[in-house]
Amino acid sequence: MELLIKNQQNSNEVELNEEPPSLINFDLAQNVNFNVLGEKSKKFIAKFFPDVTAKQWNNWHWQIRNSFTSFSDLSKVINLSKSEMEVVEKHTNLPVRITPYFASLIDPNDPLQAIRRTMVPTIDETILSKGEQPDPLGEHEDTTVNCIVHRYPDRVLFLVTDFCSAYCRYCTRSHSVAKAKSHHAYKSEWDKAFAYIAQNKQIRDVLISGGDPLTLADYQIEYILSSLKQIEHVEYIRIGTKVPVVLPQRITPQLMNIIKKYHPVLMSVHFTHPDEITEETKFACNRIANAGIPMGSQTVLLKGINDDPDIYKKLAHELLKIRVRPYYLYQCDPVPGSAHFRTSVEAGLNIIRHLRGHTSGYANPQYVIDAPGGGGKIPLLPDYYVGKDEEGNVILKNYENKYFKYPDYV
Ligand SMILES: *Cc1c(COP(=O)(O)O)cnc(C)c1O
Repeated sequence: MELLIKNQQNSNEVELNEEPPSLINFDLAQNVNFNVLGEKSKKFIAKFFPDVTAKQWNNWHWQIRNSFTSFSDLSKVINLSKSEMEVVEKHTNLPVRITPYFASLIDPNDPLQAIRRTMVPTIDETILSKGEQPDPLGEHEDTTVNCIVHRYPDRVLFLVTDFCSAYCRYCTRSHSVAKAKSHHAYKSEWDKAFAYIAQNKQIRDVLISGGDPLTLADYQIEYILSSLKQIEHVEYIRIGTKVPVVLPQRITPQLMNIIKKYHPVLMSVHFTHPDEITEETKFACNRIANAGIPMGSQTVLLKGINDDPDIYKKLAHELLKIRVRPYYLYQCDPVPGSAHFRTSVEAGLNIIRHLRGHTSGYANPQYVIDAPGGGGKIPLLPDYYVGKDEEGNVILKNYENKYFKYPDYV
């Protein structure tokens, strides 16, 4: 009860028009029920939020309300580098937003630390390089209803909000996220999407993304899931999110109970680096897995962050330990200001070479390039298939660079 009263007081203090509707409609009856506090959180609270209780910290609404959204806020907890300072005067396409929990994982003194680079903008973001474009995947052209991207015949991407609890600096949708005054799509937009999906009987798989769908309120998530569930030809639903990584406190028993009602529901979680796997993330993923939701990780290959094969392998192993299967490794999309994040394609192939045969097949993601211009995801593999000899044998190369023949003449 004590916590509920505190939140009520808080809600009077904030400027509600700056909050996404999920906060305006904050369900005061919600039981928070997230009882983990990792070492880094503890230290960060003691240093920067001494008056905040563990209960407040573990309340996801508190996390969003107290997120770092300006350089002056950030400079209180991070020693900003010259390159991070310089960007302040320039226009960045994507706002800054970092939850206090995720900020606690940032190294205040190392501007090259992986998590810090994914979240804190630098001057490099303002440089437009050759081949970069705002909507590289041509999603706008594949849009039928405003919030539907229909590229593949049997499945759609359904963008339910343009709000995220943290903005990744290499975001492929930096042209479309965090742009609207009211961040969440309106119910009327969602209703148009449901009608579109209902009319197109070949759609058997709906991928809910955004922005981050799990920043919506429970009742909004339930409305979306239940509406999709009513469409007979929708066989399963996927949720694309980074919330278990940047806002694990959102993964409440209440949310799990809602999702469970609409099974089969799968989750694609955006993981980037092994440092993201903390006590809190483990707790959240354990809850998700126990709710019967299969998880896959979608990771963007990023220069100096996870392009070292050993770092990626460590990430893959840590993910499997928390029941998240590495699903995709994405070549970084050429969004404006992303050159400092992009690697060569060879760097991606090198990671795959380092994994296949050297670790569990389950630790091997599919390495893909989402083809600029709307070509969809195209898988890439090192040259295991060498060719055919005169007798019709397929020549194969294994993970040890040894050659083998397969009699391919049936
Ligand atoms: C990635 C994506 C999907 C889903 O692709 P899968 O390979 O099935 O995971 C669907 N639609 C769009 C537009 C996408 O970009």
